[in-house]
Amino acid sequence: MIDLSDSLLDIRSAAYIVAAVLFIVGLLWLRSPDTARAGNRLSALGMLIAVVVTLLDQRIVSPEWIIIGIVLGTAIGLASARLVQLTAMPQMVAIFNGFGGAASAIVAGAELLHVNSLGDGTNAIASATIAGSIIIGSLTFTGSMIAFGKLQGIVATQPVLIPGRHVINGLLLLAALAIAVVLVIDPQIELMLLALAAVALIGGVLVVIPIGGADMPVVIALLNSYSGIAAAATGFALVSSAPEGAPFDFDSALLIIAGSLVGASGLILTRIMTRAMNRSLANVMFGGFGVADGIPGGAGAGSAADRPVRSVNAPEAAILLGYARSVIFVPGYGLAVAQAQHHVRELADMLKARGAEVRYAIHPVAGRMPGHMNVLLAEADVPYDELKDLDEINDDFTRTDVAVVVGANDVTNPAARTDRASPIYGMPILNVDESRATIVLKRSMASGFAGVENELFHKENTMMLFGDARASVESLIAEMREL
Ligand code: NDP
Repeated sequence: MIDLSDSLLDIRSAAYIVAAVLFIVGLLWLRSPDTARAGNRLSALGMLIAVVVTLLDQRIVSPEWIIIGIVLGTAIGLASARLVQLTAMPQMVAIFNGFGGAASAIVAGAELLHVNSLGDGTNAIASATIAGSIIIGSLTFTGSMIAFGKLQGIVATQPVLIPGRHVINGLLLLAALAIAVVLVIDPQIELMLLALAAVALIGGVLVVIPIGGADMPVVIALLNSYSGIAAAATGFALVSSAPEGAPFDFDSALLIIAGSLVGASGLILTRIMTRAMNRSLANVMFGGFGVADGIPGGAGAGSAADRPVRSVNAPEAAILLGYARSVIFVPGYGLAVAQAQHHVRELADMLKARGAEVRYAIHPVAGRMPGHMNVLLAEADVPYDELKDLDEINDDFTRTDVAVVVGANDVTNPAARTDRASPIYGMPILNVDESRATIVLKRSMASGFAGVENELFHKENTMMLFGDARASVESLIAEMREL
């Protein structure tokens, strides 16, 4: 006779393995723009399989609840994907990270209560991982909520420096470790769960509140990694608290796999961001760097008005572009703010129709998150082979007739190469200043994220076309039609 429960277990285990493979392959596909969409769908399919298979286990919830959950979750996911602007993506990721951290902490705490209720008490390894998950998950929750508040302008975006904060943070860390030790020694003192969560929740606020709003994207990548680590720790806690001789728990293994993938990729992303900005993580966390976007300030901002710049209007800029044989567009944060990507592509099509070679130079930290520009330009159907990374295109600026800088600033600032006193000294930049002529589209002489003046704007062959990037590109398109 066939043992039905055994074959069901096999089907579930196989489904979990399929889900894990889909996560990994999906992540691999995210590496290239032309496979990224499919990779995203593949990982989402993996997650759907994992959630449905877990919930179909009759011990958890009935099918009606599964359907209600899927419908509600899909509605929230669809609405956020459609309504949230790309420039607000860091905030959305912050909220999701926060919920991920909170969920891991809650599941870990519930596991301890569950095992205690069976009367066995957890073993030391399980208690330690449960404590770890509660600390990291709770800290991720409040840290992410503060990060969200700062980016959304609900919480003060400037660094809030509480006197003696390093001492307070140190004491909180010691308190968390002491409580964790008590939990490991006696998991039955359940009040310690709440105490641990409270200390970590306060810690999350205190760690993120001193960081400037403009540095939040890096902090969010780090918190993203933490949410993964918390999930993996919860997976370990579930595996290690299982009674001896119990069959291997594949759903917990999946939590470990998914959590590790998020933890590692979040750390790599943090590293990519800090390296591309030529800053250390410590400088981001404790440096109080930069000012809120759009607020002129920082080194040299006051002197900007005194130095001459060459301003052009759309007809003059269009004539220059009309004669160019090679053009490189350099998109930046302002392109995202102005939502000018479709118009830029239209302008590029017109230039190509006139026989010019057109490419796009993508700096790794242009915009407010890695890949920001690639996603925007892909949305406007810019061919992937025209998007060139910094290393690929930087030598070509010297052979380029016109570089068109669309709402980019810091990533084109030559001071990063030469001015040791500049906060962006050492950051790799796009060599826009080496092109034969440069047209910069921005609204004013205001500084960018780093709050520093840009030497590029004062160069002899640089022309400033002031105005909202979308309106300026629209005017250029109109003028080009007349040529
Ligand atoms: P910047 O923030 O340096 O500059 C953006 C420029 O866009 C501003 O100077 C602004 O000038 C202009 N702008 C804003 N709105 C508009 C608009 N509607 N139309 C036209 N122009 C507009 O952007 P970059 O992309 O050059 O550099 C990114 C910066 O962000 C770097 O310093 C990077 O280190 C930092 N950063 C990036 C992260 C990432 O992962 N991508 C993460 C964290 C930080 P004006 O107001 O005059 O219009």
